[in-house]
Amino acid sequence: MAGILFIISAPSGSGKSTLVSEVRRLVEGLEFSISYTTREPRGSEENGREYWFTNRAEFERMIAAGEFLEWAEVFGSNYYGTAMSALEHARKAGHDLLLDIDVQGALQVMKKLPEAVSIFILPPNPHVLEQRLRNRSQAEGVHNEAVIAARLNQARQELMHLDNYKYALVNDVLDQAATELRAIVLDARGEDGAESALAASCQTAAMNPRLSAALKSFGVTPPNGGKPGADSSGENLHNAQGSGLR
Ligand code: ADP
Ligand code: 5GP
Repeated sequence: MAGILFIISAPSGSGKSTLVSEVRRLVEGLEFSISYTTREPRGSEENGREYWFTNRAEFERMIAAGEFLEWAEVFGSNYYGTAMSALEHARKAGHDLLLDIDVQGALQVMKKLPEAVSIFILPPNPHVLEQRLRNRSQAEGVHNEAVIAARLNQARQELMHLDNYKYALVNDVLDQAATELRAIVLDARGEDGAESALAASCQTAAMNPRLSAALKSFGVTPPNGGKPGADSSGENLHNAQGSGLR
């Protein structure tokens, strides 16, 4: 494709949607890929804005017809997928494209399009993540302890894949994380400015102190004890509970 493809993944509740809308306000020419999903719309979501809402039969027809760049069954219950047409649309408009997809989908895209710029967003620690999940479910008028517990557990599993991503951002203070995300986008575009140094400090391999602290709080041992510049080749993250997905 003509534009740059950005892949963003994060455990549910990390603040990815909040950050993505913030960075789209700060940076021009960044198109958001609207995924297809079989889940029901939530709150004020609209068809064609957050997602294309569809049913399983239609989703499975699209899989069979090869219409997806990637697709996955997320939380074991609903299909989510990125249509090839999203890439074509961005290419024609000369825009960069941002995919907000889960780890399973991201790994598929990295394989097919290795030039894609991949970014993982982490909450600063499990307590903050739990609080954000609770606040959001209260705001949406749904409260389900089992769902919150499952998402916290899922977060630890997803963190084990962090080292497949070129960049890792800790979403503690929103403005700071948004500035970092903006720097990564501008750096990938090769725009001049002070963005390169900031973007470089957010590389997963740089293992900056915020990243190292966030990983430790989730019981994930960073490579080389979390020292900057540690190898990030994909086999060095360990879960204290021994439940990695690899
Ligand atoms: P995700 O898209 O990763 O599931 P959301 O963007 O829906 O997460 O954010 C989850 C909750 O956390 C929301 O209530 C949001 O307002 C809040 N939130 C997001 N980022 C921050 C932040 N940096 N500081 C405090 N609250 C945040
Ligand atoms: P939610 O239901 O909260 O909107 O999203 C649940 C998860 O599905 C999030 O991790 C989100 O990134 C992921 N997701 C959204 N769209 C896609 C997609 O097109 N493909 C894949 N693989 N995951 C997606």
